[in-house]
Amino acid sequence: PLTATDLIEEHRICVCVRKRPVNKKELAAKELDVITIPSKDVVMVHEPKQKVDLTRFLENQTFRFDYAFDDSSTNEMVYRFTARPLVETIFERGMATCFAYGQTGSGKTHTMGGDFSGKNQDCSKGIYALAARDVFLMLKKPNYKKLELQVYATFFEIYSGKVFDLLNRKAKLRVLEDGKQQVQVVGLQEREVRCTEDVLKLIEVGNSCRTSGQTSANAHSSRSHAVFQIILRRKGKMHGKFSLIDLAGNERGADTSSADRQTRLEGAEINKSLLALKECIRALGRNQAHTPFRASKLTQVLRDSFIGENSRTCMIATISPGMASCENTLNTLRYANRVK
Ligand code: ADP
Ligand code: MG
Repeated sequence: PLTATDLIEEHRICVCVRKRPVNKKELAAKELDVITIPSKDVVMVHEPKQKVDLTRFLENQTFRFDYAFDDSSTNEMVYRFTARPLVETIFERGMATCFAYGQTGSGKTHTMGGDFSGKNQDCSKGIYALAARDVFLMLKKPNYKKLELQVYATFFEIYSGKVFDLLNRKAKLRVLEDGKQQVQVVGLQEREVRCTEDVLKLIEVGNSCRTSGQTSANAHSSRSHAVFQIILRRKGKMHGKFSLIDLAGNERGADTSSADRQTRLEGAEINKSLLALKECIRALGRNQAHTPFRASKLTQVLRDSFIGENSRTCMIATISPGMASCENTLNTLRYANRVK
């Protein structure tokens, strides 16, 4: 029989999938919706084998996850089953991470709530904001109130293996590892926050900093990882940390054959970091002695979240419903499947 410890171990990693609704462009192109979610933990992909007579040549592939959210799900619902339990973790002196993984345009930023661009002004319902809201609610509970915890936030970006502070005009930061294998991002701004509104303001600052000077917000965000952290401190000492990460688009594989050197390097760097991330999460779930966190800047910076007794993580794999995205969707599902 499972002991309580086994149960905790079992739930150290939660992997779920979220399908976004068909958008106007896909509708206009009369794209087939190739994803069905027949139950709350199953995703089916109907992959067309031939371009002609689609209905006869669909090949179904089935994947099972901790949760599968269909296109009617809201951010609040996704949050409740993924990041919400991890808020408890950081109050219990743990380290938590929540990743949004998927191809560009599949809904990572929508889910995490870091998108203030265009019509999508309402970030208040994304996971960053929902987690912040619950952190401030938890602080009021008698058990935690007496700890006199203080809350801080950081927001930075990892682009082509370099770290940039989004709360400090994109200052380029160095990552140092000391003799005790403690990783430090030197000079990273850690801002004290006292309420959800404070957090929202920082997200807004970070987002506008993230995309400033870019021709297209999406072109840039598809190539960089954005890391938003909520840190609890007690008398100056770290008590718990929640890292919420909007990962670079995972479709960059094609870039490795691009004629442009910079694009090629970026693509290779992204592939490398996503591969390292997969290995680090797998190691976390298996209590492996060796965690290859040094293989990329992303995993190196998140090192303290991948080790230790009380580290927990969740991954939200976002997928597009259209047939044109089928190959990327299958790649996303296979990756998420490996992480479990
Ligand atoms: P990504 O960050 O993965 O590149 P976005 O979050 O920017 O993708 O999503 C692309 C577009 O689709 C955005 O306009 C976004 O508002 C919309 N979108 C994504 N997911 C959903 C969803 N679950 N419900 C409604 N709109 C969504
Ligand atoms: Mg995005």
